Amino acid sequence: MSNAQEPALDGVSWAPWLQASFEHALAARSHAVLLEGASGMGQWPLSLALAQAWLCDTAPAERESGHACGRCDSCNLLAAHTHPDLRVLMPETVALEVGWPLSESAQAEIDDKKRKPSKEIRADDAAAMVAFAQRTPARQRGKVALVYPAERMNTFSANALLKVLEEPPGALRFLLATEGSAPLLPTVRSRCQSTALTWPSAEASLAWLQAAGLSAEAASTWLNATGGRAHAALQMNAHANQQDWAGLPQQASAGQLEGLTRLHGTDPAAWMQSLQKLCHDQLARASGAAPRFFSTAQLVSAPQASASALLAWADQLRGHAARAHHPLKPELLLELLAQQASSAHAAPGSQGRKPLN
Ligand SMILES: [Zn+2]
Repeated sequence: MSNAQEPALDGVSWAPWLQASFEHALAARSHAVLLEGASGMGQWPLSLALAQAWLCDTAPAERESGHACGRCDSCNLLAAHTHPDLRVLMPETVALEVGWPLSESAQAEIDDKKRKPSKEIRADDAAAMVAFAQRTPARQRGKVALVYPAERMNTFSANALLKVLEEPPGALRFLLATEGSAPLLPTVRSRCQSTALTWPSAEASLAWLQAAGLSAEAASTWLNATGGRAHAALQMNAHANQQDWAGLPQQASAGQLEGLTRLHGTDPAAWMQSLQKLCHDQLARASGAAPRFFSTAQLVSAPQASASALLAWADQLRGHAARAHHPLKPELLLELLAQQASSAHAAPGSQGRKPLN
């Protein structure tokens, strides 16, 4: 299955549209590279492929398309997550999602339920990264520090990293990948050479998803649900059930949102995103435009809501999304979201605001 041209990194097959960004970043002369794209565009496999290529022991002339050989000691260490010259800095929630190991102490604290996995890059981890930056490389290919998603650094972490970025110790490459969800400190950005991730066509994405084992229907459902982000679609397929997505319009109109927890677990930010997608598509339906995230058949399983009710619902959802970092208790929030979803779909007459016509 895996060869030099199509590295299968941690089980995710290489998406051909990442190749241009890969080659662009590989050719960068700067010691710090910034990969920029919307979330779910393949930042993680692209970052790993770059780190692996930089650290690979095989001479570049003997590799295919610039990719790591996949066979040398360095590649084996990386595949085992034990490469001494690679340091990955990411929020614990993301590490658990992509299957990257946490430090023993962090894993023990989470297993013992002393705390929840952090959604931000922790200051402790940033400090460990600074210590790593100052260490001599263990092998001969230099060191790589990977930060993903870079915008999840808090001020302390960003400042600790900035010091290293300003005076990079020799033989250290920085790889920062963003998901475009929040702006990066300009001082961090200005020290990096930027590479943009490109959007694949729907045809290329669908073909790739089907090659990864998804049915045509699942590929199309998840690609639409994620707004055309193929890697996010692959992840949704692994964690969620298509029926829960397809049923969301009808359930929201009935004030039943249990499906949201099956789709996203206890992640209020993700709940809000899905409801905003639904609200967007119901507004499109109300104005006769094409939906983007759901199929028309899924949308019409809910009663036609009035544009004014949907606009009011969109406002409510925006308000919740702005407070996503300090919300109500999740179960109370879900209850409130369910109420608001069902009243947005209630017959106009039931709220006493039926327009005369
Ligand atoms: Zn190698």
